[in-house]
Amino acid sequence: MNIHSRYPLLFTPLDLGFTQIKNRALMGSMHTGLEEAENGFERMAAYFAERARGGVGMIITGGIPPNEEGGFGAKLSTPEEAEQHRTVTTAVHTADPDVKICMQILHMGALAPNPSCVAPSAVKSRIGAFKPRELDEEGIEKQLLDFVNCAALAKQAGYDGVEIIGSAGYLLSTFLVAKTNLRTDKWGGSFENRMRFPVEVVRRVRAAVGPNFIVIFRIAAMDMLEGGMAWEEVVTLALAVEAAGATIISTHFCWHEAPVPTIATMVPRAAFTQVTGRLRKVLKVPLITSNRINMPDVAEAVLARGDADIVSMARPMLADPELVRKAFEGREDEINTCIACNQACLDHTFGGYKQVSCLVNPRACRETLLNYKTTAQPRRLAVVGAGPAGLAFATVAAQRGHQVTLFDSGSEVGGQFNLAKRIPGKEEFYETLRYYQRMIAKHGVVLRLNTRVDAALLTAEGSEGFDEVIVATGIVPRQPTLEGIKHPKVVSYIDAIMGRQPIGQRVAIMGAGGIGFDVAELISHAGPSAAMDCAVFAKEWGIDFVNHPRGGVTGVQPQSATSGRTITLLQRKTDPVGKSLGRTTGWTHRLTLSRRGVRMVNGVEYLKVDDAGLHTLVNNEPKLFEVDTVIVCAGQLPLRTLFDDLQTQGIKAALVGGAFEASELDAKRAIEQACQLAASA
Ligand code: FAD
Ligand code: NAP
Ligand code: SF4
Repeated sequence: MNIHSRYPLLFTPLDLGFTQIKNRALMGSMHTGLEEAENGFERMAAYFAERARGGVGMIITGGIPPNEEGGFGAKLSTPEEAEQHRTVTTAVHTADPDVKICMQILHMGALAPNPSCVAPSAVKSRIGAFKPRELDEEGIEKQLLDFVNCAALAKQAGYDGVEIIGSAGYLLSTFLVAKTNLRTDKWGGSFENRMRFPVEVVRRVRAAVGPNFIVIFRIAAMDMLEGGMAWEEVVTLALAVEAAGATIISTHFCWHEAPVPTIATMVPRAAFTQVTGRLRKVLKVPLITSNRINMPDVAEAVLARGDADIVSMARPMLADPELVRKAFEGREDEINTCIACNQACLDHTFGGYKQVSCLVNPRACRETLLNYKTTAQPRRLAVVGAGPAGLAFATVAAQRGHQVTLFDSGSEVGGQFNLAKRIPGKEEFYETLRYYQRMIAKHGVVLRLNTRVDAALLTAEGSEGFDEVIVATGIVPRQPTLEGIKHPKVVSYIDAIMGRQPIGQRVAIMGAGGIGFDVAELISHAGPSAAMDCAVFAKEWGIDFVNHPRGGVTGVQPQSATSGRTITLLQRKTDPVGKSLGRTTGWTHRLTLSRRGVRMVNGVEYLKVDDAGLHTLVNNEPKLFEVDTVIVCAGQLPLRTLFDDLQTQGIKAALVGGAFEASELDAKRAIEQACQLAASA
């Protein structure tokens, strides 16, 4: 066996006795929406096969319910359904016969968006759509039989194993926790009784599938719930599941309704793996760890610390299907890193089960629809603006064989990402910029920085020079019309973020969109960014990694260091402030800021700024905010001057990103639009 020089542990096979996993990189389970889509199995086959070719050792599919009440769409309970899954398993094993693929059996329990949902007790989840029906003895037996049937069908469909999810607030975990299991029969009460159902599922599944089939159990090693599982209970359950026949135990740090972020971008990389490390000391079976492991060096370090035997990377495999192969070949600088924004993945899943993709890689889950084929007719293209839209267009078009020149008036590529990366918690944005810089070099894009482009420059470049101009000039900040808007205490968000203007002790932020919240984060925080320091993160969110009280959080008070400023975040709408933020991350921003004492006021009409401060009407009542600084974060307008000039001169041009449409613009839309355009250019 050859030892890999950079990642000796990551590329060491794992022997399971009856089979071997070729390396320690696992693609974790994600529901993508392909499970329910038209041609979903063909699309899933292409999606997983691309990841198999990309070098991963084992893949876990998105969760598939074992029966109708356990989910809302896809399920595996009949031989006909098993036959459809064969499309996926065949594609993966054809792509690389050494790659294992296991199907996750997901019974959503009280979280199933289904009026027939069931649970140990009729306890409605805060985030569930329906109150579940309490299972009677017969109902429990039916669920057990359905798990067994589903696992047997997964084997028949060609999977190498199954993962049974016993965490996150889904059916099995609601048996485990006293607040969701109020039963007094043999399935409730003592922990021994509460764990009976999950252990019985594993025992019966193992009996049904035989010894040579991978059975993974996903356990909530720290569920982040007040009154959640105690450490002793986690250990007891893990040992029981091991004894019941699990091949591997996968640790999860989640209960969907727990108010602690566990995978968002402000969570430090590999923050939770220490918990897996502790559990690994008491078990014989291999352990999988997860959460915010997005680069190979992080994975290797986790393995080197002895925290786990296998490292799960889920969203990073959306962002870059070739992550593992690139690591193996020493091309780490080509990895398109997951920035943990959740914007195109989990926000879609939890925002009405929309199709999942990836902000930095819009091809994710569109493998059969969006392809960057080599062009038969290479053209000379000028791309003006090196923000996310211009970068995505330029690099994809060049990859396809076009000759691309990319201009920006700034001294570095990135556009607004150069502001975003300065916000504490958004340090991952540096990775996207590193990726694009590498792609510019790799695909031979000619980069011209410090060059403000106008129509004359493009014409002087040689009127015959460019076949087309792609205008990706982005936006200009909106300047509200207001008496005193030029007062010295009024500062633009750009100047505030770049530190070009002093910010006083008493601040009003005009506009509470994504940028208003980011500015509030920047000026309210103190000390190191939580995303870069696990101890700061734990303190800020009230997690005790050392003593592991129930759920990891029970009785621990969150403590946030603050800058000491008095900050008020204002908006005109009467909606709750922050309502438009991301579905899975907005609450973290609202909670962080309110814990730091940032006031949020809606229903504001701005009147004027003067030496006294910001004069407003709040819900029609006069209100003066006595502040030293007013930071304007009042949205953006498209910057189209260049495009209009080119149109006037009859020069062929196309708009993309913020220049195309500034309303509801974000990087997800800018990059996707640019990639779609470049794919057809
Ligand atoms: P821009 O990023 O604005 O880039 C336009 C580029 O064009 C600039 O580099 C500019 O210098 C250049 N340019 C303009 N005119 C000319 C010219 N005449 N000649 C040469 N060059 C020119 N989005 C998200 O999705 N998620 C986030 O978490 C997020 N956080 C953000 C945080 C902050 C603080 C900010 C400010 C923005 C954030 N955004 C976020 C928004 C995101 O950055 C923008 O939606 C995205 O950058 C728009 O991309 P773009 O390429 O269209 O425009
Ligand atoms: P935004 O989200 O549209 O918010 C603009 C804010 O300005 C709103 O609060 C709006 O609310 C207010 N506003 C609009 N017109 C105004 C006017 N004439 N006078 C005063 N206030 C006005 O835009 P943004 O904050 O500028 O962000 C730009 C884009 O970047 C957004 O689309 C956002 O999605 C993206 N972004 C995303 C993130 C993220 O974490 N996902 C972070 C930062 C930015 P009222 O009209 O109610 O006052
Ligand atoms: Fe990662 Fe964001 Fe892509 Fe989701 S959308 S995979 S969080 S980069």
